[in-house]
Amino acid sequence: MKEDCIFCKILAGEIPSATVYEDDSFKAILDVNPAARGHVIILPKTHAANLYELPDEEASKIMVVAKKIAIALKETYHCDGINVLQNNGEASGQTVFHLHVHVIPRYTGDTDTINIGWKPQETPSDMAAIVEEIKANL
Ligand code: 5GP
Ligand code: ZN
Repeated sequence: MKEDCIFCKILAGEIPSATVYEDDSFKAILDVNPAARGHVIILPKTHAANLYELPDEEASKIMVVAKKIAIALKETYHCDGINVLQNNGEASGQTVFHLHVHVIPRYTGDTDTINIGWKPQETPSDMAAIVEEIKANL
């Protein structure tokens, strides 16, 4: 547990949360300021600030939990789509620095309240160079 981490406090039971799913490694709770009804966030029980710090075992297991929640939300709300997303660093929109995965029900035409997107740029002319620069750090 990390001092001053709001999600560690939730996991320790010091701050209440509405839990929809829990296992040995994760707790999935309702987001307190949801993008939509049924917006769930999945928290690993061990503190990791972001994906870079998340142990491989948790990293591989968290998507299985996201799948379980996504299917449940689809069946519950008959939503048209689901976003599964995860932010790393302030620039990406991360506001709580304990890794979490969002599972958000989506509906056709809901873009007045939810806007996850980007302006596609031109196809790069140097794809091979990009591949090489990334591969150098893998
Ligand atoms: P981020 O922007 O870091 O990806 O997402 C943080 C999310 O945590 C936000 O959607 C925010 O509403 C949610 N959140 C922040 N504080 C609390 C809290 O105390 N309880 C719950 N359930 N959600 C929280
Ligand atoms: Zn934490």
